[in-house]
Amino acid sequence: MIQIIINPRSGSGIRRGMLSELKAAIRARGWTCSEYVTTAPGDATRFAAALGDDLQSVVVWGGDGTVREVAAGLVGKPIPLLACPLGTENLLAKELRIPAQPQRLVDILVAGRVVDCDLGSVNGRSFMLIMGIGFDGEVVRRLASVRQGHITHLSYFWPIWRTFWEHDFPRMRIQVEGQEVFNDYGLAFVGNISRYAVGLRICRDAQFNDGLLDLVVFSCREQTALVLHAAWTLLRVHPLKGGVIYRRFKHCHIETDRPVPSQIDGDVGPNTPLDIRMETGKLRLLVPPSRGPNGLWPWRGDSIV
Ligand SMILES: [Mg+2]
Repeated sequence: MIQIIINPRSGSGIRRGMLSELKAAIRARGWTCSEYVTTAPGDATRFAAALGDDLQSVVVWGGDGTVREVAAGLVGKPIPLLACPLGTENLLAKELRIPAQPQRLVDILVAGRVVDCDLGSVNGRSFMLIMGIGFDGEVVRRLASVRQGHITHLSYFWPIWRTFWEHDFPRMRIQVEGQEVFNDYGLAFVGNISRYAVGLRICRDAQFNDGLLDLVVFSCREQTALVLHAAWTLLRVHPLKGGVIYRRFKHCHIETDRPVPSQIDGDVGPNTPLDIRMETGKLRLLVPPSRGPNGLWPWRGDSIV
């Protein structure tokens, strides 16, 4: 049986027509499917954690936040997860090149490959994509305080604009594997995948299955420096620039001169101090079949089993 977990509050809405098409296509293959609709934060994790190991796969009909919630419940289980691009950003679905068309989603259920994905944990809470500490944590916190239902990229405009002018960059002390790597004013990101919102690739070289998390710290005390960092990041040359630290790690500790907010996979995360590490359990992900040795997938010619 295939379990569909639906978040009706995801960025692009429930898309009932496409959902019906998906269910019909699943049944046309002779499989049964069952659906569960989330009603509150935490629902998806509890539901996924209670699923039996004999399930064929779980389809997440939602955005990155829903995938993270389901992943937290599925970690360590043998059931593979298929992430559909139904949110605002869909960073994971984009990274895995998962299409939106129901028929092609079913093709992945039939012939896709299963890969192991690392998960990170921050203060005991799991994350799978990218988290930000400082500036973008504040943007997400502001957005969450006014959010009602679906969001679009435009919903971020005023929170970003106001945070840009009002943000007071914290002094951060960052330790990687017990050694101090940064002690200055700035903002930081920790990623398991390369993609960030609106096509930026902040953790440029991150891979979700290398057993390490990527840390990027931008040294920044004022707004003009942030603009410059953003420009270099757009051009994907930021790891080569002064004032930027790029490290891979298994354990990282971040303290700040006052509690600052974080965001985890686009949702409000805990305030600093933060203890960030790799989780030992892996998540099984369904991805499209390989396009052959010279195709664009998998990434950079990595062999993924
Ligand atoms: Mg990695």
